[in-house]
Amino acid sequence: MTNGRRVSRAPTAAELVKAIRSDGGRLFRTREPGGVFVLTTDAKLSARLQRLGGSPHVPPGMPMQALAEMDASMPPGAYQKARNGGVEWDIVLNGIALEGPETLWEAAGKASAGTVEKPQAKFNLPIEHWSPSSLSMLRRCPRQWQERYVKGRKERPAEAPVVGTTVHAGLERNFRQKIESHEDIPVAELVEWYDDQGFAETVEAEQERRGFEVYWDTVGKDGKPDLDSIRARGRKMLGAYSNKVSPRIQPSAVESFVSVDFGISVPVEGRADLIREAEPIIDWKTGKRARKKPQESWRIQGAVYQEAVGRPIEFHSVTATESGSVSIWTPLEAPELLVEPTPSERAEMRRTLATIEAEACLYMQLYGPDEPWPTHGRWHEFACNYCGFRSGCPAWSEE
Ligand code: SF4
Repeated sequence: MTNGRRVSRAPTAAELVKAIRSDGGRLFRTREPGGVFVLTTDAKLSARLQRLGGSPHVPPGMPMQALAEMDASMPPGAYQKARNGGVEWDIVLNGIALEGPETLWEAAGKASAGTVEKPQAKFNLPIEHWSPSSLSMLRRCPRQWQERYVKGRKERPAEAPVVGTTVHAGLERNFRQKIESHEDIPVAELVEWYDDQGFAETVEAEQERRGFEVYWDTVGKDGKPDLDSIRARGRKMLGAYSNKVSPRIQPSAVESFVSVDFGISVPVEGRADLIREAEPIIDWKTGKRARKKPQESWRIQGAVYQEAVGRPIEFHSVTATESGSVSIWTPLEAPELLVEPTPSERAEMRRTLATIEAEACLYMQLYGPDEPWPTHGRWHEFACNYCGFRSGCPAWSEE
């Protein structure tokens, strides 16, 4: 109080973030460096932020067409979330005066990180890093993970992932040279390389790396692998993606190694398929079944790449059925394929990863390296169908 009048100071970034969160507001980053806006359904919070200097970005009741036009200047997917969540108020906070040097976005990240409580567990696993796929495998079936990562056993490669690897090889061949050339390899030329060299060389390399021959499930009338139709499926995926999607992608890096410290005992490492300047990372998902939404296990990948590169990730689903019918889904056709974890989702992911690691440490403590770990895969929709360690698995001992 001064001369009987209350003097109010500007809030610090941390105080404002806390107030926004406690009133149900969500913070997003705008494309301008350091820019932040808030989505909220709370009219009082909206009024308070406007008193502090924030400006309404989207007035309530704005037509969908106008919302869509605004999408171009905002983080991908933000308005999708706004519309789906029935959000009415959208306040840009860039003009707000704050006490202290910290920015709102920094404070938002810290507030989220501060909520992480790392479960206490003595690290006792024979690994030097996690990967998104090893974390997913542990969640799916601890015994499968034990066989693969504790005992070091390898699984016989299956047809679908190997065909996917051959398609990745073709895409990588094009995009690696496009970093400098800014031109796609003509589709006919790329497909010819795939047929003459790419498919066979990639299959051979996979077999050598895994120490097993591929298990082909597409067989001809003679009972032998029908390599012509398997190769044709990969060729169609590569050709269709190259025609339809590649021309709109300018890569800055392909197959980039990323390593992230999530505050657990070892880093999480992976490879980002394709990185672009100031645009979401791209990850290709191949297979037989088209996906218009990310699978839950993909979200771990999304979190890893978001932490490593600081950008959201978009999944491109490139699939071909047995009969060779190809479909391609990207966020342009299926917006949910864009995954952009918010600061609070990222904090929750850190807590979840710490818990997954603690769970593995507990199994090691309870069962050691040799006694079988729990067989959760038995209750999973399809895990056992594709598991290379089914022979000898206690869950299938009656077979
Ligand atoms: S067969 Fe099923 S239960 Fe057994 S290890 Fe494999 S996934 Fe787990």
